[in-house]
Amino acid sequence: MEKKIFVFDLDDTLIDTDYKFELTFCDCIKTILLSFETRAPQIDEVLDAARALDNHKLATYPVETRYQPQRLYDTWLETYALLCEKHGLKPKAHVKQQLKGLIGQNFDAPWYIIPGAEETLEKLKDLPDVELHVLTVGDVQVQQRKLQSTQLIRFFKHVQVTTADKQAYLEQLAKEFGAGNVTMIGNSLKSDINPALRAGVNVVHIPRGNWHHAYEEPETEFTTVRDIRDLVKALEQTTN
Ligand SMILES: [Mg+2]
Repeated sequence: MEKKIFVFDLDDTLIDTDYKFELTFCDCIKTILLSFETRAPQIDEVLDAARALDNHKLATYPVETRYQPQRLYDTWLETYALLCEKHGLKPKAHVKQQLKGLIGQNFDAPWYIIPGAEETLEKLKDLPDVELHVLTVGDVQVQQRKLQSTQLIRFFKHVQVTTADKQAYLEQLAKEFGAGNVTMIGNSLKSDINPALRAGVNVVHIPRGNWHHAYEEPETEFTTVRDIRDLVKALEQTTN
């Protein structure tokens, strides 16, 4: 029997992460407002400045650094500097330190496993001739830490952390195992589904998370499930 390879995205497919970024944004805004004391700008002004800077970095940073923690540090320190300049205040060293500390929390435990993910991986792992892989974009150490601290690492034969595009790894698997035997499972159309379709492998989309940057129109028809608990059934239909 031919081997089936199920390739999982990590962030917001197996563990929730987007909400952490939103909480970090709230914390950074509050820190900046407090630092301005009675001359605090409106919340919108801080958020708009940070979003504009972050989106610009996403569009212009080289792929090797685009999804690294440094981008977020740069975004918030530059937001603070920009607002200080605009409002005629001198940036304070302790505020910069506070911002760095808040952003650092984003890349530390706890991480929460999405309900149903463990049971689903347990079922898939026990199937004959099945191999489970993780294919995730980000910082190697941070992504490994997420897998270790949640203990999800135990389900996977291979973990691939990449800087930007998942297509190359999926093409390599398709060559080795046959495109029809490889399935990419993920929450992002831009980062998971479209690269997998381009690589010619099967896909299952499980929408979750809120990152506006990650939206991209799908290129063709594909299978969608709303809950990871329905994945095993969907895979039986997709890969037969
Ligand atoms: Mg994801």
